[in-house]
Amino acid sequence: MQQTIILKLLPSEATDDSIIKKNIANSCGVKENAVTGFYLQKKSIDARAKTIWVNLTLIAFINEPFHDRALINTTFKEVTNATKSVVIIGAGPAGLFAALQLIEAGIKPIILERGKDVRTRRRDLAILNKEGIINPESNYCFGEGGAGTYSDGKLYTRSNKRGSIDKILNHFVRFGADENILYEAHPHIGTNKLPQIITAMRNQIIDCGGQFLFEKKVTDFIIEHNTVSAVKTADGNRFDGDAFILATGHSARDIFELLHQKNILIEAKPFALGVRIEHPQELINECQYKSNATNHVLPPAAYSLVQQINGRGVFSFCMCPGGIIAPAATSANELVVNGWSPSKRNNPYANSGMVVQVGLEDVLMEFRSLEKFRSLDASNPLLMMYFQQMVEQNCFSAGGGKFVAPAQRMVDFSNNTSSSTLPNCSYQPGLATTNLIDVLPNFVYSALAKGFIEFGKKMKGYFTNEAVVVATESRTSSPIRIPRDNETLTHPQLNNLYPCAEGAGYAGGIVSAAMDGERVAKQCANLLM
Ligand SMILES: Cc1cc2nc3c(=O)[nH]c(=O)nc-3n(C[C@H](O)[C@H](O)[C@H](O)COP(=O)(O)OP(=O)(O)OC[C@H]3O[C@@H](n4cnc5c(N)ncnc54)[C@H](O)[C@@H]3O)c2cc1C
Repeated sequence: MQQTIILKLLPSEATDDSIIKKNIANSCGVKENAVTGFYLQKKSIDARAKTIWVNLTLIAFINEPFHDRALINTTFKEVTNATKSVVIIGAGPAGLFAALQLIEAGIKPIILERGKDVRTRRRDLAILNKEGIINPESNYCFGEGGAGTYSDGKLYTRSNKRGSIDKILNHFVRFGADENILYEAHPHIGTNKLPQIITAMRNQIIDCGGQFLFEKKVTDFIIEHNTVSAVKTADGNRFDGDAFILATGHSARDIFELLHQKNILIEAKPFALGVRIEHPQELINECQYKSNATNHVLPPAAYSLVQQINGRGVFSFCMCPGGIIAPAATSANELVVNGWSPSKRNNPYANSGMVVQVGLEDVLMEFRSLEKFRSLDASNPLLMMYFQQMVEQNCFSAGGGKFVAPAQRMVDFSNNTSSSTLPNCSYQPGLATTNLIDVLPNFVYSALAKGFIEFGKKMKGYFTNEAVVVATESRTSSPIRIPRDNETLTHPQLNNLYPCAEGAGYAGGIVSAAMDGERVAKQCANLLM
């Protein structure tokens, strides 16, 4: 017999299999030797009270042979000579999971990626961090695995209606992630482990006969009778396919511009923009765990904060305990920050995006006073993207170049006083002390300034000058939507172009992008086969 058991144990008990077995036997009313084994289905830590509890949900085997957890069964087919092929533009999580799904369906994927493979890309990241020089085709957003490869690798998502989260997590384990992501309440892979996993996915795709091409930036679509027949790449090549999955992410501004130029419908969409905050990790542990702050059983503490300020949402985003702030721009003279952490989350800093909702009206209002943008109106689909880019460029200039980021201490930020010094920070290109009121759009600055004070009331110790505010966190989600039909998932004007995942406005984060990649690929396969 197999039984689902829920246990609440002390941390020392939760890591001891013999104690767990004893508890299973007690709760099933059987002798201990009747319990042949168990595996975890869910694990979470409750550190709200003085006594820390670990909540476990597990599958126990009673009086029957134990079978460890099996990964979801997947058959990847040989597609070298498949009769149908689909061109996937972009090798981020969406593109990779779309390719694996097509292979399951017996269709050959041809992946075109503008950037380089994970290993070569690592060198470009080192140059960016140490010398402040960016390669516009190979950086934290562009290259094999997309923004996912050197991301934090948090895999928690609320979008459980868009596909099977389990299947995505199972694939990550199949390609090398630790099994704990299958049962931890907030699964996390860590930046040090993602590159090997992405490489294993690429090898699987190539072993099955899929094509995986680097440094192939798509620069044009060849369209005949509402159908895409081919794409052209910057090096002058042409790639034909039966269908095209556009999974270029939210940083591919040239793709949005190309679509607009070719009169292919795209729409401006609200997004969120703000800053990244960094505190000492110890301080966040004290805020969150109080008297348990130094208990080594607990992972470095995280937080999630949200507040309405004058009817506008201000919220934390992509919190990285034990993490690093990274330069995530894709072009020279634009400054974008994001965050990541290694699997052990053992850096001494805790960082988090802190962003403000930005609507079309806000941007139109902002642009009214700027000569360069005054003529733009709500009908321009690139409106929000221009705004995002303008803030990024202002931040780059304020930092003085080489990706040095403008920054201010947190209390000084809210009080609008200059910071004479800045605390140590994990951001490698360096910080320049700046009054951020002069850099950020006024509505963003004022919502954040009030938000920090409110967050300090909710989380005692949070509002402090030990924290540094770094600008700007601007690539939270796409400022553009590429529309698609709800049923066919194709673009309304092009019957074989599938706008996909984050860049098209249908996903936010690794797992939801991967699920959207799978969903689109399944639909595409149904139509082709
Ligand atoms: C530092 C950092 C940390 C993050 N941490 C997390 C996290 O912990 N958890 C989480 O869920 N999300 C995180 N994210 C966000 C996550 O990485 C993205 O949501 C996800 O990667 C989006 O997937 P995607 O496939 O839609 O697009 P992307 O990952 O952006 O991939 C798009 C791909 O398309 C390629 N491309 C673009 N234009 C072209 C073109 N013209 N021709 C050919 N190829 C092109 C790009 O090079 C890129 O490889 C983080 C992001 C960053 C930068």
